Amino acid sequence: MTILVCSACGTSFDDGEHLKTCRICADERQYVPASGQAWTTPEKLALAHRNTWLQLEPGLMAIQTVPAFAINQRALLLRTPAGNVLWDCIALLDEATKAIIDALGGLSAIAISHPHYYTTMQDWAAAFDAPIYLHAADKEWVCRPSDYIRFWEEDALVLSSAVTLVHGGGHFAGGTVLHWTGEDGQGVLLAGDIVQVTPGADHVSFMWSYPNMLPLSAEEVMDVAERLAPWPFERIYGAFSHQNVRQAGQDIVARSARRYIDRIKSLSR
Ligand SMILES: [Zn+2]
Ligand SMILES: [Zn+2]
Repeated sequence: MTILVCSACGTSFDDGEHLKTCRICADERQYVPASGQAWTTPEKLALAHRNTWLQLEPGLMAIQTVPAFAINQRALLLRTPAGNVLWDCIALLDEATKAIIDALGGLSAIAISHPHYYTTMQDWAAAFDAPIYLHAADKEWVCRPSDYIRFWEEDALVLSSAVTLVHGGGHFAGGTVLHWTGEDGQGVLLAGDIVQVTPGADHVSFMWSYPNMLPLSAEEVMDVAERLAPWPFERIYGAFSHQNVRQAGQDIVARSARRYIDRIKSLSR
């Protein structure tokens, strides 16, 4: 069966023949480009793009497609004694990426923050025979079925002694962040878009739609902050390159939530 990939968001679909609209782009949180819906295939994508690698800190590497494709997020490869975890996903899985990950020991799990980064997760899972952990609250947004998908419903899901998925909500009902102890034990948050690192890397923000600039309510942001509060971390790595908070991450999230809530409340007075 032909796999089609949405050029605007990177989501993959099975049935190419009758596909007109990408459900992820048609959602109020994304957008269909003014030039209209366009599609590519994994093969075409690999002809004009490649993946680059960057070590963010010991045990953590970023994988990013160049030139930029679709939303242009990065995937993160977390290396732990219990196996490698792919955090978030990108559409391009080329032969070089497969060979590099195989050489690093393959994948023991894939975990994704929210539907904008589901992309071609089904193909990554099949290539590395690895389960995909998705929060059940976002089940409706899976656009291609896969036997590798495992839905979870708890507030947190322990993947290993060092890695836990935490349900944050906010941007999506099932919005998930990954908490890792880090090799130094100081704690690391892999944030996706659930906690969005700001350009100064000294704050984060929280939105329902980033491209369409639609906010979350004060209550929703308070809820995300409360869900993350029990987890200690120094560093935060967001979905995009340069979204790297190097210290005081937990304090930054708490302060940023208070700043956001104060701002929203001052507007509604
Ligand atoms: Zn799309
Ligand atoms: Zn998003």
